[in-house]
Amino acid sequence: MWLDDWLDLAFGSACVGCGRAGRLLCPDCRETLPLAARPVRPEPCPDGLAPAFAAADYADPVRRMILLHKERRAFGLAGPLGQALALPVLAGLTPSARTVLVPVPSRPGVVRARGHDPMLRITRVAARTLRGGGADVLVSTLLRQRDVVADQAGLTATERAANLAGRMAARASRLRGLARSGVPLTVVVCDDVITTGSTAREAQRALEAVGLPVAAICCVAATRRRHLLPK
Ligand SMILES: [Zn+2]
Repeated sequence: MWLDDWLDLAFGSACVGCGRAGRLLCPDCRETLPLAARPVRPEPCPDGLAPAFAAADYADPVRRMILLHKERRAFGLAGPLGQALALPVLAGLTPSARTVLVPVPSRPGVVRARGHDPMLRITRVAARTLRGGGADVLVSTLLRQRDVVADQAGLTATERAANLAGRMAARASRLRGLARSGVPLTVVVCDDVITTGSTAREAQRALEAVGLPVAAICCVAATRRRHLLPK
């Protein structure tokens, strides 16, 4: 763990945007983050994928922020990342309903190895941001992921879908808690990056399997597929 602490200190000493010594994200770079809620659609799109939205393209400095937060435990970046995630959620809020943000779960083994759950932390910041604006928003860790899913990196869209099918499930205890409230619920799946949409689609499937329709999928960033295709 000392290595993580050292890395946190090291990366805490320079801005991820411009490299200037000081904060992880200097006020100038924070100001110029290219953030706006926009609809995204993976190409090809998984059948039946709920409407998806992202705050940014998956490009630096947002890309670096996501990776440093996730892999290097640069927790200072959870604030700006969560506020970014709040943008697409805000665009789709239903005023008459309570919005439940469901972070896409990491595998338990990955959470243990990283020592934190990056998506849960970012989603909590997004919810706090929206509640600050008066919205009725809560976070529920409704989904769990089994530990057997192979790493998604390097897989094609079809391989990802096969790898993920049936690998997420809703937690019955959380579900009962939500049902007890008796308030109409809008369920939004939250993830850091949307690429093929297969992870979000699996989260959606697991929620729909217990009778929770998914209104939207909201992400911090979306990859531009054409950059991933071989030349
Ligand atoms: Zn900067």
